[in-house]
Amino acid sequence: MDDIETIAYTRGWRDYKKRRTIFLFSFVTWIPLCFVISYVANLLGIGDYIWLCVPLMLVWLVLEIRWSLWPCPRCGKQFAVRDGFFYGQSVLIASKCVHCGLWKTDLMRAERLAQKMAKPEHEAAVDDLH
Ligand SMILES: [Zn+2]
Repeated sequence: MDDIETIAYTRGWRDYKKRRTIFLFSFVTWIPLCFVISYVANLLGIGDYIWLCVPLMLVWLVLEIRWSLWPCPRCGKQFAVRDGFFYGQSVLIASKCVHCGLWKTDLMRAERLAQKMAKPEHEAAVDDLH
């Protein structure tokens, strides 16, 4: 793996993690947020605003699709989607790109390598001891 690949893989992997984190955050907060909105609306006497959950659910859905369509850092095609189908695997459990066969573990390794290269030499030497 050369430096250009390491940089591209690291950027791609960080993009994947960012999409995943944003989606999971929206997934976890969606239902509590709906209850809070409805509760506050009822407290203020302005009616039941539980219907606001529908647009929030659409936001959640868009974020899920955005994560699912994450492009592979090597080939640029969607990592887990081929011909518009997921072939029984979501991007969460897909271990390798359905187009070029790039493994997620290669992306994780590239990120660790990039972190190692970014550290000062004395810190990297300490990590090598472990
Ligand atoms: Zn690929």
